[in-house]
Amino acid sequence: MNIINKVKDLDRKLDCFITVDEKSKPLCEGKLSGYTVSVKDCFCTNGLRTTAGSKILENYIPLFDATVVEKVKNEGGLIIGKTAMDEFGFGTFSANCAYKIPKNPWDLNRSCGGSSGGAGCISAVLEKHIAVAESTGGSISAPASFTGTVGITPTYGRCSRWGLLAYANSLDKPGIIAGNVKDAALGLSIIAGYDEKDSTSINEKVPDYTKSCRTNLKGIKIGIPKEYLSEGIDEKVKSHFYKAVETLESLGAKTEKVSLPMTKYALSSYYIIAVSEASTNLAKYCGIRYGATLPLKGNFDEFASKVRTKYFGEEAKRRIMLGTFTRMSGYRDAYYLKAMKIRQMIIDDFKKAFKKVDVLASPTMPVIAPRFDEISKLTPLQNWAMDILTVAPNLAGIPMISVPCGFADNMPVGLHIIGNHLDESKLIHTAYAYEQKANLNRGAEI
Ligand code: GLN
Repeated sequence: MNIINKVKDLDRKLDCFITVDEKSKPLCEGKLSGYTVSVKDCFCTNGLRTTAGSKILENYIPLFDATVVEKVKNEGGLIIGKTAMDEFGFGTFSANCAYKIPKNPWDLNRSCGGSSGGAGCISAVLEKHIAVAESTGGSISAPASFTGTVGITPTYGRCSRWGLLAYANSLDKPGIIAGNVKDAALGLSIIAGYDEKDSTSINEKVPDYTKSCRTNLKGIKIGIPKEYLSEGIDEKVKSHFYKAVETLESLGAKTEKVSLPMTKYALSSYYIIAVSEASTNLAKYCGIRYGATLPLKGNFDEFASKVRTKYFGEEAKRRIMLGTFTRMSGYRDAYYLKAMKIRQMIIDDFKKAFKKVDVLASPTMPVIAPRFDEISKLTPLQNWAMDILTVAPNLAGIPMISVPCGFADNMPVGLHIIGNHLDESKLIHTAYAYEQKANLNRGAEI
């Protein structure tokens, strides 16, 4: 079967693509020759529909490639399509998608995680595949953990955001999901790098991250944040995590407990900052310049309101309203500015920890992938609380990687390794050594 037919067949079973690119051909030979590449649907792809999981962009066909897309094309990557995601990245289970809700290949009744759910899903079933994904508050780690794949979220600014349909500009980070650490490292080496079109892009040389795939962990000090193992973390998940710690120690790493006392404020700070930025970003979808529209009628407010009411999903509306509230004069100081101060304190917590240790380790998600009938019963607050372990490093803009560390109830569990600013190499080294020893990555059978 040719690869596009195989992808279409997988998509029929798993609903992981919003658009499959039937006409794609590699542009040239390069480091990605022989690999298929998928792109989360929030990155612009020249001539290929880009919806960000939203009906408001249902017919949007960009005239240019996002920088990260251009980079994979220039290395010979064959782009097979655009992966399913929560609308604009608003979610943890990819269940807030206006198109398809991807199914977990390990159990079709369960979520792939989100918001890069389609990226996790396809990486779990396709070998030699690199998924270009994006995280704002955990959207690479969550699907990697739930689908038994490897997800790397680099330092904020390491990969260009040019051509990314923004969720929250101060938090959005392009990254990679793949079936194993080496492929993830290869993908990151290709998409990382300075871009003058992104004013927050970091101007630092990109190492070849695949060279960090080494197996000895002598000299590596791993901190275990005690706040990340408190209540709310499933016991089975915890027990796999502690087994992983033993494996890391057997490879020569030293471990010690550390404290990140501001953790308890991370969720509220993240959700205030994220929705504040999201509400300004979504203001441009007003039915006039691009995106969905309706026949012109009434004054601007009436017209824009009609378009937005019709085409935004429920979660996007919730965030627009909350984010508008937190920025309003009178509330701004109490919510948005306070959240920004807390963000700085969270950064300081991590800075202190990295004076003592090289990397931090914890479970990635507090639970295994939930079933869709469980998700539908969650309140918005319970939904947001699932991000408890991923939002703090995302707020701090530091890199993280999730790698499989076992199976509970036949579903994958993820080990999260968090690194210092621009220390992706150490993360990849630690995760690779662990992966080789634990030998737990295996594709899902479908
Ligand atoms: N679940 C988080 C949110 O809904 C993170 C999503 C993301 O990283 N895009 O905001």
